[in-house]
Amino acid sequence: MTAAGDLTTREAAILLGVHTRTITTYADSGRLPHSKLPSGHRRFKRVDVEALRDRGATGDGLVPIWCADRDHGLIVFALPGSRAYCARCKSWFVSEPAPEPAA
Ligand SMILES: [Zn+2]
Repeated sequence: MTAAGDLTTREAAILLGVHTRTITTYADSGRLPHSKLPSGHRRFKRVDVEALRDRGATGDGLVPIWCADRDHGLIVFALPGSRAYCARCKSWFVSEPAPEPAA
């Protein structure tokens, strides 16, 4: 049941200029509406992805900060350029850069 024009996680990530993990986080946190195929892959409607992009990727100008350790995953959503502390590996990590504005 995939309508023509639906986007994969990777396509949505390219459109928003973020990591595919960020798209997964947006989807799981309810920031980005999506459907799931029987295979478990997510599909996004282009209009939903573009709406999120137009709101500044997260709607509040925040970007995710990830721990370098995959198992620790997302630390927090914060302003671009800010840092977050991972208590589990006792290290600081910086946010992803803000998505480039569309030319
Ligand atoms: Zn960590």
